Amino acid sequence: MSSLTIVMYHYVRPIKGSDWLNIRGLEIEGFVRQLDYLAQNYQIVMAEDVIDAVRVGKDLPRNACWLTFDDGYKDHYLHVLPELCKKGVQGSFFPPVKPITERLMLDVNSIHHILASVNDVNLLVLDLNNECRNFGITDGELKLLWEEYAVPSRYDTKEIIYVKRLLQHALSESMRNEITSNLFKKYVGISQTEFADQLYMSEREVKELINAGMYVGSHGYRHLWLNKEDRKSQKLEIDKSLSFLSAVGARTVDWIMCYPYGAYNQDTLDLLEEAKCAVGITTEVAKADLNLHHRLKMPRFDTNDFPQ
Ligand SMILES: [Zn+2]
Repeated sequence: MSSLTIVMYHYVRPIKGSDWLNIRGLEIEGFVRQLDYLAQNYQIVMAEDVIDAVRVGKDLPRNACWLTFDDGYKDHYLHVLPELCKKGVQGSFFPPVKPITERLMLDVNSIHHILASVNDVNLLVLDLNNECRNFGITDGELKLLWEEYAVPSRYDTKEIIYVKRLLQHALSESMRNEITSNLFKKYVGISQTEFADQLYMSEREVKELINAGMYVGSHGYRHLWLNKEDRKSQKLEIDKSLSFLSAVGARTVDWIMCYPYGAYNQDTLDLLEEAKCAVGITTEVAKADLNLHHRLKMPRFDTNDFPQ
């Protein structure tokens, strides 16, 4: 069989009764129910099965399903790992290196937690625009930014996408960093370093995933939009993430790349071929078919596409 249902997870945790009622995540009970559903309707395969399928043409079982967990959250160690072990199935985990080893927040996660802390996103948009004005951005430029970036997505309103895009890449890096840090302080109310320790797995926890039979692959070093980086910077991202995989005892030949934000370009694909990468997973939404999709461009479903 060549078809493969790949499911993507991010935050999986007890949300009700926590400090983060508004975080866009999957409630742990929903995850357990979904795991039961997937186990009943699919054959949950291992990363190694997928690698063998693309490398030596080994058949996948009927209704093959592959579970992937992005971003190295402590959620995955605390809540996901025990459930996978109970069921006797493997998950594939893709931690970006910098938050794990340097205990620093990724912008994307700071932005999630700012958004989860506001009651009215319109006020956040006003705050963000004021921060931009402090950096000399004019009202005319803000209007153009709004027109370009305030475009609703599959799950987010135009206001949320505007905040995300400006703080993820539309503004210059130094501006983004300072504004994100200011908004984080104002809305979340604790330091980003303290928060990083709560949010991400430690290196020891990543090693424990591997010891428990889980797969760990690359999600880059700094979690960048690789398609916006030059070839040299992309190579550094890939090389540094491979050094990390080697340090934690994960495989570095016929390994798996999970593109941050699903973003890549031809340079990425060339570099991955050179670095003996077997499989690349994107955020394009579809059922993967090994006969149809290039092995470095595999689409994935989101957890929200299945019963929870
Ligand atoms: Zn990610």
